[in-house]
Amino acid sequence: MGKNIAVVLAAGTGSRMKAGVAKQFLELAGKPLIYYALKAVEDSKIIHECILVTGEDDMQRMQQEIVGKYGFHKVTAIIPGGSERCFSVANAMRWINAIKQGASETKDIVFIHDGARPFLTEEILERTLQAAKEYGACVAAMPSKDTVKLMDENGFAKETPDRKTVWTVQTPQTFDRKLIVEAYRKFEQDIESEAKPGRGMVTDDASVVERYTDVKVKLVEGAYTNIKVTTPEDLVIAEAFLMKE
Ligand code: C5P
Repeated sequence: MGKNIAVVLAAGTGSRMKAGVAKQFLELAGKPLIYYALKAVEDSKIIHECILVTGEDDMQRMQQEIVGKYGFHKVTAIIPGGSERCFSVANAMRWINAIKQGASETKDIVFIHDGARPFLTEEILERTLQAAKEYGACVAAMPSKDTVKLMDENGFAKETPDRKTVWTVQTPQTFDRKLIVEAYRKFEQDIESEAKPGRGMVTDDASVVERYTDVKVKLVEGAYTNIKVTTPEDLVIAEAFLMKE
């Protein structure tokens, strides 16, 4: 039977938080930020196992202070991340490929989720699971509340896309396992290739599928509460959401 595997990302320095501590360990209502995403995965009825990606220097701390302490039994591996989000995900995809060698028949689904998004819900997981099964690739997203402008190189507005077609993208980004492993393999090959030096980084997983496969990525309803805690004001908003619960 196929498995539903969550990849929770908690590497990176979180420099925009300006906290001096790794963002994933920052306290939010008495618990470390990373606790919340892992708790949603642990409690989920549809996720079978979880791979946690963290900074190379934080792996032991993550095991003791988070996984062990809170009893997150679905975490089957804690692996080191890379210098950019996309390299952290690429490491996880290589890991999944290695543990799934010989399991080419099983139809597994991979949910890639930012550990910095504490308000992951079972409904969002469910919606992305259904869409990933149907279309192979999907992302949680919401219609943009703000008008979005594309900027030219001199800082002037160049274009204003019709707001009805603009969605802001969240995680989970959920895929057929073989599709996302193969897309990241091509991405890594491309990045290393001398022929195309400096080929653009990507900031989400859907872009890798868009660039290296011909599979179309379905947009699935996420939630306006499914925020990413990035800057100090996001912590205030996240605390307010938790107080309402
Ligand atoms: O930096 P940003 O907030 O966009 O990161 C989104 C998610 O990606 C976070 O959960 C962060 O821990 C993760 N990340 C990572 N490896 C990096 C950079 C970010 O796993 N090198």
